[in-house]
Amino acid sequence: MDNPCLSCGACCAAFRVTFHSSELESEGGRVPDGLADPEGYEHARLKGTDYANPRCLALCGTIGEKVWCGIYAERPSPCREFAPLAEIGNFASACNRARARHGLPALPVVDG
Ligand code: SF4
Ligand code: SF4
Repeated sequence: MDNPCLSCGACCAAFRVTFHSSELESEGGRVPDGLADPEGYEHARLKGTDYANPRCLALCGTIGEKVWCGIYAERPSPCREFAPLAEIGNFASACNRARARHGLPALPVVDG
């Protein structure tokens, strides 16, 4: 099955993405600091994901056509956990909620 995420990207423009500050490059992690805002004392948030019309600043391409993550190898843990699991059925409702928000059809839910 083709990876549906490559022609989607909806979840990168639908949800607030918060992660522990230790994942920031300046703290020994890999996420570029310039793409994150502080959230409280211990957390950071990907820039753009808390806007009224959210879109992560690292998302490249056109949603629903062709997309890629500009920091794929350095993306934070919520991004690593969300997309692959969506493909096997977990998080399917969140995935399809994000897709609906961008006018994309729901993906079939696969029993995992
Ligand atoms: S996880 Fe779902 S919403 Fe996110 S890019 Fe993949 S198909 Fe789209
Ligand atoms: S870092 Fe990459 S995978 Fe995570 S929300 Fe931004 S564009 Fe999407």
